[in-house]
Amino acid sequence: MSRYQYSRQLLDRAAKVLAGGVSSEFRKYNHPHALFYSHGKGSRVVDVDNNVYLDFTLSQGPLILGHSHPEVLHAIQSYSEQGQLYAGQHIQEIELAEKLARLIPSAELIRFCLDGSTAVQTAFRVARAKTGKQKFLRFEGHYHGWLDDVAWGISTPGVEALGSREEPEVFPWSAGMAANTRNEFIVLPWNDLDLVKQTLEKQYHEIAAIITEPVMCNNGCIEPEPGFLQGLRTLCDQYGIALIFDEVITGFRVGLGGAQSYFGVTPDLSVFAKAMGSGYPVSAVVGRREWMELIEQSVVIHAGTMNSSCPMIAAALSTIRVLERDNPYPRMFALGKRLMTGLAEAARQHNQNLLLSGPGPVFSSCFTDLEKVRDYRDTLKTDKPRLSRFIAAMHDRNIRIIGRGLWYISAVHTEEEIDEAIQVANEVLAAL
Ligand code: PLP
Repeated sequence: MSRYQYSRQLLDRAAKVLAGGVSSEFRKYNHPHALFYSHGKGSRVVDVDNNVYLDFTLSQGPLILGHSHPEVLHAIQSYSEQGQLYAGQHIQEIELAEKLARLIPSAELIRFCLDGSTAVQTAFRVARAKTGKQKFLRFEGHYHGWLDDVAWGISTPGVEALGSREEPEVFPWSAGMAANTRNEFIVLPWNDLDLVKQTLEKQYHEIAAIITEPVMCNNGCIEPEPGFLQGLRTLCDQYGIALIFDEVITGFRVGLGGAQSYFGVTPDLSVFAKAMGSGYPVSAVVGRREWMELIEQSVVIHAGTMNSSCPMIAAALSTIRVLERDNPYPRMFALGKRLMTGLAEAARQHNQNLLLSGPGPVFSSCFTDLEKVRDYRDTLKTDKPRLSRFIAAMHDRNIRIIGRGLWYISAVHTEEEIDEAIQVANEVLAAL
């Protein structure tokens, strides 16, 4: 009997009415199939078959305070009792915006949205309106949401060609995307400042913005080469281009001021989501006044019926209050490093070429003989089938990691739990 039997039954039932049995494409790719969960508490989540997992997916990142944090739940409940949405403003929005303005270096003006994808679109609109230019430059392996003008991929199943580094081949991520959106961006490998320079020299007059994840969390969890982000900043200033940091993952994960504080590089516009709201739909586009004032003046239109509902703002406000009060960041970095070191040591013992990379509160694991994974092209050379077997075997032993090898640490994970994961990895790597 499968340990996932009831999930399997529910998936069959769901598939009759929910397209593909799921509500987001990424949820299809669980092991051994999309699973159903019944509850979560702290660092553990439980599926409907009563398998209890030590959770390093944190719901793809948002659950920085773990599952069902009591202070967040209490804030949502008590604030919702007063109402949920007014088609008007409420006082906690100001409190939250004031907090962001104080914590995030680039946040002079702020607008709240529902998720990362829509916040990214808002930033694009501001950048295009301010510069009067249409295109933006983005990087291979970065993810900025699923919407048409940005969800173009470098590789597609069954297609090997990547094209040259100067002109990568780019494929629509999905059927049905507006074909002309392909012409709205230029894509380059990440961490190669010379290539960015050469491209801007030729095409700066068309480019409104450079958008980057400050750490390439979506593939390989690769940190920027020293000087890379600073170099982008200088080039954007030189050519009058907006620098947009997509901090959907790094925001509130590497520190209260996001990666821009961590690396000391201030973008013009940036986008926060995931950890900001502990799993509730709230995001923010923030930026320097000279850019965001276009929204202030209604030159750029940003709207949304559901924006800044009371429970969502309460979720973000309470999450950030806890993060400010407890300052879990030194601990999260230490736990991440402990886990990375333990996994590397277990791999060495069993002669496995497991490579770990990332700052710690988020990091990636892959199997490769490369000493370092420097960009997306390197990630394609890693042993993906071995990674899938590793993750499946960990999952079967109740350690839950994101399918592409990404691990998230929360403020509620403990040293004992980190050691538990290392112990399980040790057994799995011995048998892999
Ligand atoms: N940007 C980054 C860096 C992301 O990782 C994601 C989602 O994973 C997004 C944008 C899109 O955010 P959402 O899924 O909330 O629309």
